[in-house]
Amino acid sequence: MSPLGLALLAALVAALVASGLRRARTARIRREIRDLPGSAPETALAVDDFGEMDAAIALRACPCGGRPTLAGEGSREVDGRRFRVARLVCPSCEEEQFVFFETTRLFH
Ligand SMILES: [Zn+2]
Repeated sequence: MSPLGLALLAALVAALVASGLRRARTARIRREIRDLPGSAPETALAVDDFGEMDAAIALRACPCGGRPTLAGEGSREVDGRRFRVARLVCPSCEEEQFVFFETTRLFH
């Protein structure tokens, strides 16, 4: 193989390895986000007032080391329990994560 061919092959292999590593990193970050407390209704964080939600959101970290920011909020009801769901997006890795807060107690 010519030196140019070898260089191209090396560049191709490097690009494949880099994209494979990136994919593995993204998969790991998503898995870790899923394991965070509050990432699903089953592990929702119980709060007594809205200030606790803001505090929990401010303390939330992304597994990549970034600080996710609030991108949206919504409400959800599952089996008669009420949840406030915050959608956060990490500016570093661009992964989004949801934080479920159980607000059933807030309205009773
Ligand atoms: Zn991140």
